[in-house]
Amino acid sequence: QSKNQKKIGIENKITWDDIGGYEGLKKEIKEYIELPLKYEGIAKKYGLKAPKGILLFGPPGCGKTLMMRALANDAKINFIYVNISDIMSKWYGESEARLKELFANARKNAPCILFFDEIDTIGVKRENHTGDSVTPRLLSLMLSEIDGMQSDDGMIIVGSTNVPQMLDKALLRAGRFDKLLFVSPPDITARKEILNIHCKGKPLAPDVDLNKIAEMTERYSGADLANICQEVARKVAAEVIESGKERQIQMKDFMDVIKTYKPSITLQMLEDY
Ligand code: ATP
Repeated sequence: QSKNQKKIGIENKITWDDIGGYEGLKKEIKEYIELPLKYEGIAKKYGLKAPKGILLFGPPGCGKTLMMRALANDAKINFIYVNISDIMSKWYGESEARLKELFANARKNAPCILFFDEIDTIGVKRENHTGDSVTPRLLSLMLSEIDGMQSDDGMIIVGSTNVPQMLDKALLRAGRFDKLLFVSPPDITARKEILNIHCKGKPLAPDVDLNKIAEMTERYSGADLANICQEVARKVAAEVIESGKERQIQMKDFMDVIKTYKPSITLQMLEDY
């Protein structure tokens, strides 16, 4: 095992239990993607194949990255995260070289998930190009790299996007990102579980009603809820330091933060899916 491989593996400690809600989607991901990776012998016997490419779409901050990390960790495979904007370069040919290198590196670190965040940055429909010349070149390179992937490479490529309607159809063809999964905004049960996860270990007063907070936070993403819990804890901790008097986090502390925190999922966003 190379040093790099170890590093990638160690960095990923997310488990399925770190993800609140989404029972149906988790089940689908576990059965459809994880099973063939985790139980290779059984998969082989019954002729089950892991998919080659998956597209996760939905509003920002709802657990797309988190779910793939949990899957990789549970199946004991590497997780390689790439934000497309990080490979974009204004120097001619450099973005392509970086993309090629990423695929080569992923092959070396197989079995792995190669996760492309904001895949729409290069996968944007050809008619919507803003005129730069790097994007279409990267898109063709991405398509040829995906087409060149062999089933025994042990790589799964995952694309994540908030704007699936912007994607070039070529990316969605059979044998490319052909399994589409919608990661919705969290429903009330998910919000309650997400709050629970992000409040774990924090000193909460008995009046803190996470059910009530879950009811009040429609269209808040998982990331919003995580931020709110962090912000509430930060404020109370600052007050404790200032006053020198310890106290628990109360319902009012949550209400004060929520009042000033707008949900990041808009109605317009939801109409677009
Ligand atoms: P983007 O589309 O912006 O890349 P994403 O859907 O990939 O977002 P994540 O990066 O998976 O979102 O989630 C961001 C953070 O929000 C997580 O690190 C976690 O703290 C919190 N979070 C989101 N969804 C959940 C969830 N279901 N359970 C627990 N925490 C969550």
